[in-house]
Amino acid sequence: MREDQLREEICEIGRRMYQRQFCAANEGNISVRLDRERVLCTPTLHCKGFLKPDDLCLVDLDGNQLAGQNQRTSEILLHLQIYKNREDVDSVVHCHPPHATAFAITGEPIPSGLLPEPEIFLGEVPTAPYVLPGTLAFAESIMPFVLRTNVIVLANHGVVSYGMGLERSYWLTEILDAYCRVLINTRALAPPRYFSGEQMRELVDLRQRWGFRDPRVEFGCANDDLANHPVFRSTWAETGIAPRAFRNDAR
Ligand SMILES: [Zn+2]
Repeated sequence: MREDQLREEICEIGRRMYQRQFCAANEGNISVRLDRERVLCTPTLHCKGFLKPDDLCLVDLDGNQLAGQNQRTSEILLHLQIYKNREDVDSVVHCHPPHATAFAITGEPIPSGLLPEPEIFLGEVPTAPYVLPGTLAFAESIMPFVLRTNVIVLANHGVVSYGMGLERSYWLTEILDAYCRVLINTRALAPPRYFSGEQMRELVDLRQRWGFRDPRVEFGCANDDLANHPVFRSTWAETGIAPRAFRNDAR
């Protein structure tokens, strides 16, 4: 895709993010990798719902601004950390979608084993520990997870999702927030009914056939561990992440 088309696409995804109330005022940021050295990104202090192609900034992989009349987003280091570690990624979306961010604030991990779409498109979603936004330490907080997933909840902050193709990268955030909205509704109604181990295996197999890598398969999880497995739990004790609202006690 040409640079002017990518600029239009960033503006379009910004409009969708704002319309879905994933980013209030000037929140959120979007970037696209143009080539091995250059990244196109949204500017700081601009509403993502009203961006124009000329508002965007061009930076190198160290975050130095190469072009653009506005200053680049302060969160660019998070995006660059992903590009440096994932050659297969060409786009990153970060925002504060309200339902997923409620999970981020409470330290409730995103549960598995309840709906097909999140299992197929998202797989296991980790929660990265809280670090002051905009810092290098914040960018590095995703390192335990970045190689094994394309969507990460950022504790007490929001969500980052990434992949090949900006629209698809954004979809991961939309799927996650829609899932979290359903989960919050579920909590008000009755205890959820979880998939069996065999039902989980069918979904994980389908995810594999669609070409998504899944660390649960690489770790050789048994059927009954697929919805309740230790793959992303290494930081839970340190960061206070613990399931309280959604506990799959059957396993
Ligand atoms: Zn943020």
